[in-house]
Amino acid sequence: MASIGHRLRKLQPYFSNLPAAWTLVVLATIIGALTEPLIPALLKPLLDRGFQAGNLEIWTVPATLMMLFAVRGMAGYVAQLGLAKITNQGLARMRQAMFRKILTADLSLFSNQSSSALSNTVVYEAQTGAALLVNSFLLLTRNGLTLVALTGYLLYLNWKLTLIVTVVFPAVAMVMRTLTRRVHGLTLSMQNSTDNLAYVVEENILANRDIRLYAAQSSQEKRFKALSDSLLSLAMKSTVAGAAMTPLTQMLAAAALSAVISVALVQSAGSGTSVGGFVAFVTAMLMIIAPIRQLSELSNSVTRGLAAIERGLHLIETIPDEKSGHFSKALADGRIEFSQVSVAYAEEGPLAIEGVSFSINPGETIALVGASGSGKSTLANLLPQFAKIHSGNVLLDGHDIRDWDLQSLRSQLAVVSQHPILINDSIAANVALGLEINTDKILRCLASAHLMAWINSLPKGIETIVGHNAMQLSGGQRQRLAIARALYKNSPILILDEATSALDSESEKAVQEALQELMVSRTVLVIAHRLSTIMHANRIIVMDKGKVVEAGTHQELIQANGMYARLYQMGFYSETA
Ligand code: ADP
Ligand code: MG
Repeated sequence: MASIGHRLRKLQPYFSNLPAAWTLVVLATIIGALTEPLIPALLKPLLDRGFQAGNLEIWTVPATLMMLFAVRGMAGYVAQLGLAKITNQGLARMRQAMFRKILTADLSLFSNQSSSALSNTVVYEAQTGAALLVNSFLLLTRNGLTLVALTGYLLYLNWKLTLIVTVVFPAVAMVMRTLTRRVHGLTLSMQNSTDNLAYVVEENILANRDIRLYAAQSSQEKRFKALSDSLLSLAMKSTVAGAAMTPLTQMLAAAALSAVISVALVQSAGSGTSVGGFVAFVTAMLMIIAPIRQLSELSNSVTRGLAAIERGLHLIETIPDEKSGHFSKALADGRIEFSQVSVAYAEEGPLAIEGVSFSINPGETIALVGASGSGKSTLANLLPQFAKIHSGNVLLDGHDIRDWDLQSLRSQLAVVSQHPILINDSIAANVALGLEINTDKILRCLASAHLMAWINSLPKGIETIVGHNAMQLSGGQRQRLAIARALYKNSPILILDEATSALDSESEKAVQEALQELMVSRTVLVIAHRLSTIMHANRIIVMDKGKVVEAGTHQELIQANGMYARLYQMGFYSETA
């Protein structure tokens, strides 16, 4: 574990850009702290002179007191406002950096971390961490300075007595160090458990229908309870460790205090300290307990705060971005070559694709067929670099796709998949996703995707918000929206991955027509079971267990009487969907 100072310094870029606010906060805190010893200091003249008739004007006492608290209150107010500004702005900056990372991170991030864990990091942990840390800073400066001011005053009053107090510090430090370590470890475990808990919630929300249908409620409830119990026990352990800190340090402080008072009493008996002087000393002593207590609680919240916010830092600093090359082109010709390509999802796992070689000429339509799990989607995912090449090469226009600038590479591709994902925005924004909105063009694409009849029936037309992943839309509508999106992008290469498999035959017809329109004058890689689609392809690639087993036109493959012909005879290819 790096030192706290080192860890805090890493947060600097996010929280240090408001010098004016910081100055204000520090100044206000200093002023606030300086007013503290003034309270016992006022007691001394009050007791020594005030109660001897005529030495003190009556009005000066309330006036001074009110003044003191007015200054103190103002200082506290200003410090809090300044800190709120610093916290919230720092938090916003950090969140933006985290979100940017989610947009650019290497895709392995999403297989290693669940979406609930990621949103937890960005939304809640960052908030908790920033609030705890900035609040700790406020407590540290205020109480630290108060402590210094009061100690200074005590030393001025009676330095011998004050020295006794300092004996306590090493003991307090030791207690704090031991407990802080334990709290830190427990905090990390708690974050982990919270992620797991959030994950179960996420999953159960996604699968809410299946869980009802298969009556899995009680098992899910048990699963949730087990996780929530483990979180409970961790929270209690952490509280046990954290809460012990305060009484332990307070006991030490009380011991010091009793020693001081006893010594003071003995001392004053001999040297005749004034009553005012003694009361001022004891008051200052008592006032010192509050800052000591708050300081002792500080390490607890710093520990928790750091652990929370460091998840975000970890995300920003250690998760690599996607690797991008430098070759770019406005419009690719669309020549694609796979040469001896293999893909493995897990380091030492089985190959999802093994030694695949074939090429696609610009303007050609290639159909990929094969049983489910034979690696068709994996192959298609290679082009936008959604799947990592294990060995071999994939070339686009003669350039290895890993040498392509990612943005330029992806701008060449439109993908319509089995489960199109829509964002919770207007239909127009979904069609133009990432591109500028051009209403005429959007309407044309929607018309080509056979969606205008539906759009016209909507009161708000293309401004209709589709809702959370467009769940209110039918499968066919979602699919045709995805096709409209691909039309709008108008890229030279088109990938259709079972784009029509989720459709009923009514939408199927409309979608087929939309797809025909989309496929004109593009290079197309189509994964389909529909016979007419396959038959019209320039070439058919047959895959089995990650390998290309056959290639050719429908006629050639039927004549070859291999796997394709066998599947054909079994009725694997459908006439409609
Ligand atoms: P198809 O599209 O032909 O049905 P896929 O390309 O989806 O086949 O899958 C090929 C193989 O890769 C399968 O064995 C599948 O289990 C595996 N696979 C696919 N996606 C992943 C993934 N994200 N992580 C691990 N394995 C995967
Ligand atoms: Mg697939």
